Amino acid sequence: MTSEIISIGTELLLGNTINTNTAFLSEQLAALGIDVYYHTTVGDNPKRLQDTLYQAVKRSELIITTGGLGPTADDITKEVICEAAGKRLVLHKPSLDRIDAFFKRIGKSMSPNNIKQAYIPEDGMAVYNHTGTAPGIIMELDNCTIIMLPGPPSEMETMFLKEIKPYLQEKSPYTIISRTIKFFGIGESALESKLRDIIDRQSDPTIATYAGEGEVKVRITTKTVSGQAKLSGLEQVTGVINDRVGEYIYAYDDLSLEHITAELLISSPYTLSLAESCTGGRVSSMLTSVPGVSKSFKGTIVSYSNDIKTNLLGVKKETLETYGAVSRETAIEMAEGARKMCNAHIGLSITGIAGPDGRTPDKPVGLVYIALCTAEGCECFEHRFAGDRTKIQIYAAKHAINYLRKFLVKHIRS
Ligand code: AMP
Ligand code: MG
Repeated sequence: MTSEIISIGTELLLGNTINTNTAFLSEQLAALGIDVYYHTTVGDNPKRLQDTLYQAVKRSELIITTGGLGPTADDITKEVICEAAGKRLVLHKPSLDRIDAFFKRIGKSMSPNNIKQAYIPEDGMAVYNHTGTAPGIIMELDNCTIIMLPGPPSEMETMFLKEIKPYLQEKSPYTIISRTIKFFGIGESALESKLRDIIDRQSDPTIATYAGEGEVKVRITTKTVSGQAKLSGLEQVTGVINDRVGEYIYAYDDLSLEHITAELLISSPYTLSLAESCTGGRVSSMLTSVPGVSKSFKGTIVSYSNDIKTNLLGVKKETLETYGAVSRETAIEMAEGARKMCNAHIGLSITGIAGPDGRTPDKPVGLVYIALCTAEGCECFEHRFAGDRTKIQIYAAKHAINYLRKFLVKHIRS
């Protein structure tokens, strides 16, 4: 089924309101196997809305509109659509009763212009609004189904999920099954070149890569007639990807790196403490966004100054003087210090130059050391990240979390 979405509201054209309705609906329709071919945004203007509608009816089997179903004079969606379709608006008594009951429930009386919301096209179907007053409308016009939804995202989303989705599931024979594979430590172009041949050959399942901050995800999607599982194609492509670039995969779901790592930590016998310098607590903040991590995470020392590195973490003055605060040696002493101070199994540290200032002739902006220590010993990794201050901090934090993840995977499995 081909579809398009028409967003109605002058505030969208002015940029005062971000069009979240279209993003939500597009994702929902794709998941139902319905192709979305056009997005149009039009202001509260009868002539332009009518033109948009005429064009849409000619090319799509399904049109979803949002906005303009409210009680005020600029809410014109159903009036314009009915006029264009040559249909009358008739009072829908059950909707009027619901609107009346809605106002009674919130202790207010219905104002006269709310009655306008209870009118629907003569052969249209009213759709129940669970969280507001304006009913949605489903109507047919020239082999095209038009669904009108309210503008406020909370009303629109609830109405879509509870009423429209089941209706469309009945109409569309397809279901979409998709799997997301998440990668860390490989760039999008490197990943794409390793998967070039299967991306070029794709028809079903389809394969798409998306780049995030220091991360890449691959989404494998298959379209299937409802009830018929087509998982084998999905499994087969997943297997090929795993064989080629499995070492960079951290999740087979759309979960964040910190989520996966914190879950691993929680399920392990290890406890963790951190010493963060250039990331300023970012790693701690990312890990503590995951519920339940308090079982395993002991604390962070944000050791931004040399004083704190020495006095709290026990980094030797000579180490700082000889090698500098941004060095392999300091990183290791920071991680050891955090581990001992917090009495944790693992100490993880990050020290680097986030910029824009702070470079020296032999230490550029973006130079970062990450150390991971346990009672068995220490490992330290050197990185040279590109980008502005925030980007360097994010990259440093994610790499630190990834080293922790790799350590946990290796030690939990062995
Ligand atoms: P309306 O039903 O046109 O009166 O819209 C009511 C309110 O819903 C507007 O003032 C916006 O705040 C919001 N809204 C309308 N359309 C959208 C949209 N496409 N995305 C996000 N919010 C919207
Ligand atoms: Mg509006």
